Amino acid sequence: SAEAVEAGRHAYELDRRHVFHSWSAQGSLDPMTILATEGSWIWDGEGRRLLDFSSQLVNTNIGHQHPSVVEAIRRQAADICTVAPQHVNPARSRAAELIAEHTPGDLDRIFFTNGGADANEHAVRMARLHTGRYKVLSRYRSYHGGTDTAVNLTGDPRRWPNDYGDSGVVHFFGPFLYRSRFHATTEEEESQRALEHLEETVRLEGPENIAALVLESIPGTSGIMIPPTSYMRGVRELCDRHGIVLIADEVMAGFGRSGRWFSVEHFDVVPDLLTFAKGVNSGYVPLGGVAISPHIAETFDQRPYPGGLTYSGHPLATASAVATLEAMEAEGIVEHAARLGEETIGPRLRKIAERHPSVGEVRGTGVFWAVELVKDPETKEPLAPYGGSSPEMAQVIAACKERGLLPFANFNRIHVVPPCTVSVDEAHAGLDILDAALDVADAMH
Ligand code: PLP
Repeated sequence: SAEAVEAGRHAYELDRRHVFHSWSAQGSLDPMTILATEGSWIWDGEGRRLLDFSSQLVNTNIGHQHPSVVEAIRRQAADICTVAPQHVNPARSRAAELIAEHTPGDLDRIFFTNGGADANEHAVRMARLHTGRYKVLSRYRSYHGGTDTAVNLTGDPRRWPNDYGDSGVVHFFGPFLYRSRFHATTEEEESQRALEHLEETVRLEGPENIAALVLESIPGTSGIMIPPTSYMRGVRELCDRHGIVLIADEVMAGFGRSGRWFSVEHFDVVPDLLTFAKGVNSGYVPLGGVAISPHIAETFDQRPYPGGLTYSGHPLATASAVATLEAMEAEGIVEHAARLGEETIGPRLRKIAERHPSVGEVRGTGVFWAVELVKDPETKEPLAPYGGSSPEMAQVIAACKERGLLPFANFNRIHVVPPCTVSVDEAHAGLDILDAALDVADAMH
């Protein structure tokens, strides 16, 4: 309505005057206003409807405004809005039980946080106290959050201005065949050489100094590079051999995104600690956490765990997680995501890759796909440089939006990351738009 659009314009003005935005130079921002959301759709400040193929920040796995989750928040708000973390609360207890039912292996103890970054902070703290060691290994091409330890674990340019050289984090190269650092030509070669590189990194850093190895089970923001199963098993074995705590960051890859409850299931690997957020309640209320294996939980049986938060297991957040997970089970949402990847998104993207010279590679699983855009398929020169944007990328994104699609973009990539609940028709409609928008990238060849 005209009134809503007017309210949106007012909100925009206030935003530009008073709101300080994440990761941005504040002076040059022109943020999109969102006035309404439902299912796979959002309505912008002018009242235009767009298909949300970003799931916001890849978190609305259950779609926008799922009625049973909205209702659970409403009921919980009427009942108890908040309790301190030291007290028992039914919403928290039930959420922990439900999460533990889905986590792999014996990861049955849940420490709740407010989001993904603090989940990783606490996982690293637990690992350091458990092992008595300080160093942590993590991948280049990764994202682990914006707080001090998490941003230093991160292997993307957002770390650079936050890295004072004292984080104790050492970065290594993970497997990424399309842009292989190991001159590999097959996945098996890439896996084996990446493992040798990691083994050598551990040896040269001194295994007895390394508390933890942190990895996204499937790296998300940095490009959805699915690691070979042999690599993930090799990492598990390497950690076991040296007493290194394996932390799987499932903040983006978890809760159905990859077509499984957790992405480590693809590789049949059980980490010692697993961090989650986003999809646990689709971000309707801020929530994250660490799932803890018994041998690490035991470290803190007698000795107090030195960490906590006022909102650990907040009732509104955990009640929304309970409703989310119950709806995901009842509606077969994880199975739907897996089928969408196999039958709709994967096949369509492979056709798109054939048709467009600007597409270097498509890769993914479930509703977790990356389209790698290049200036030249031979040299693989990216359409935007690492860490940056380009007029070409900006034009592709603008072409998507003009045609009614909100994409997720990072450097030279467009990610196809709709809600796990997106319908087959909606997926086709979004991919039609992407297909047409990529003509813009081809034209610049
Ligand atoms: N870990 C991964 C893999 C993520 O993708 C993100 C967010 O995008 C985070 C951690 C940080 O989560 P949050 O933004 O909730 O702190």
